[in-house]
Amino acid sequence: MAPEDRETPSPDEAFATLGSETRLSILQALGAADRPLAFSTLFDRVDVDDSGRFNYHLGRLVSHFVGKTDAGYELTQAGRRVVEAVLSGAVTDAPVVERTRLDQPCHYCGAPIEVSYRQDRVLKYCTDCPGRNRTPRGVPDAPAEGYLGSLPLPPQASRDGRRARRTRPRGPGPTSNFSRRRPESARAVRPRSPSR
Ligand SMILES: [Zn+2]
Repeated sequence: MAPEDRETPSPDEAFATLGSETRLSILQALGAADRPLAFSTLFDRVDVDDSGRFNYHLGRLVSHFVGKTDAGYELTQAGRRVVEAVLSGAVTDAPVVERTRLDQPCHYCGAPIEVSYRQDRVLKYCTDCPGRNRTPRGVPDAPAEGYLGSLPLPPQASRDGRRARRTRPRGPGPTSNFSRRRPESARAVRPRSPSR
């Protein structure tokens, strides 16, 4: 791919993907692979236990971000741009990004969720109910109303971790920082089932 063909994904496009850790993990696993991956191999490389949930998120990515061929799953151009932009920090250079609607419902009330980006975090907000109704930890200037939780973005180190992950996809490494930075509260608000 010629460098001039690379485009940064729009915030809408990137955030809809970033809004799910599972979807982002799938894209990163495919980005780290040097060939198409079979379903079982991909499932093995993504840190999710529930195959139904995995299948749901993979399905949301297929066609636009992920292509499926006889050889397996691989990133499309759009998927590769998301991975490259996230890993390079291009998406995250903007200090504040306006809220973007996701295709996920609030698990309190079922209303659509919106996400915005501030200070290295994707903040999730409900469009209808008060949510957790508190200011996101570490982001005191963000609104409390509707706050549901946040997702930390991968650290810059992930860019260099791509090669390491190729041989050591599930071991300790750059992803350790990723999970250490996640507040316990974010874990508690994750939807339990993708079908809700
Ligand atoms: Zn709600």
